[in-house]
Amino acid sequence: MRALTQLLRTNIQNLKPYSSARDEYTGEEGVFLDANENPFNEPYNRYPDPYQRKLKAIIAELKEVDATQIFLGNGSDEAIDLVYRAFCEPGVDNVVSIDPTYGMYQVAAETNDVKVKKVKLTSGFELDVAALLDAVDANTKMLWICSPNNPTGNCFREADVETLLRKFDGIVVLDEAYIDFAPGRSMLGKLNNFPNLVVMQTFSKAWGMAGIRLGMAFAQPDIIKILSRIKYPYNLNILTQKKAMELISQNKEKTEQWIKLLLDERMKLASELKKLPFVQHIYPSDANFLLVRTTEPKRIYNFLVDKKIIIRDRSTVTLCEGCLRITVGSPEENRILMNALHLFV
Ligand SMILES: *Cc1c(COP(=O)(O)O)cnc(C)c1O
Repeated sequence: MRALTQLLRTNIQNLKPYSSARDEYTGEEGVFLDANENPFNEPYNRYPDPYQRKLKAIIAELKEVDATQIFLGNGSDEAIDLVYRAFCEPGVDNVVSIDPTYGMYQVAAETNDVKVKKVKLTSGFELDVAALLDAVDANTKMLWICSPNNPTGNCFREADVETLLRKFDGIVVLDEAYIDFAPGRSMLGKLNNFPNLVVMQTFSKAWGMAGIRLGMAFAQPDIIKILSRIKYPYNLNILTQKKAMELISQNKEKTEQWIKLLLDERMKLASELKKLPFVQHIYPSDANFLLVRTTEPKRIYNFLVDKKIIIRDRSTVTLCEGCLRITVGSPEENRILMNALHLFV
């Protein structure tokens, strides 16, 4: 890995962060006349903890990492944007990304004026390690991998990811948004082996908290420090921090049960879909959705929308010709979907 000082943008390295009122005094008790807050209207009158210490302690225990290895953001989307802002000089640097994958890597690149070099997965949706490394040039700062990948649904081979971590001397961002549904292990356990690894996870999927917007990035403390320095000081509001702490402790078992149920539903849904005449292939999934190749994706999509059943038409995406992406819903929702699809002619 190149030294962090060579990877980070110069302005970011030199940045003097905003010092918030709560930076200087971190005690919980006191007469707080430092932040120009309204003293009434408990419990929302105070600014939230800019470092999210309590929430990070809970997440550190949950994920078995050190709190100094955790960045928390307004969804993974915030972490995605911040790594561009930390590492990529607009108009100069570039990133390499697998294709197809999650659209936000491209959107965040464009808003930061950073070029994305896309490298197609193999026809079996595996990483083309040689082509990914070939695409790297002197200005390539990051490599984007998503595993399990959206929209293909599969996990990549751990050995391939490790090869990329060893051979690419920039930052490897590994988005594990769907890891809770996957049979394989998270790469979080290897954080200490790879100083250039940034793992992203989220509470939006398995944990059922998409509405409170809470995403995580895990990396070596020096990278986390930089992300924390450039984020908005109060990026996570009090409601999100409180609700997350409450639900993480309350819903650990429930989440496990949801995952089991959804994996079971995924299997049932796949076997039902397979019987439909317009379904050509169902790709193996390690996530809570199925990528389904059909004969007439657009007509099926519109047919379902007419019945107020919304899925995702991915048929124009690289390597996904004819494909629809279907989230595994509740048993009731999946029944409604299948009943509708049986009426499609
Ligand atoms: C859904 C999803 C996310 C989650 O984003 P949040 O901003 O945390 O809700 C991240 N990455 C991928 C690949 C996703 O599909």
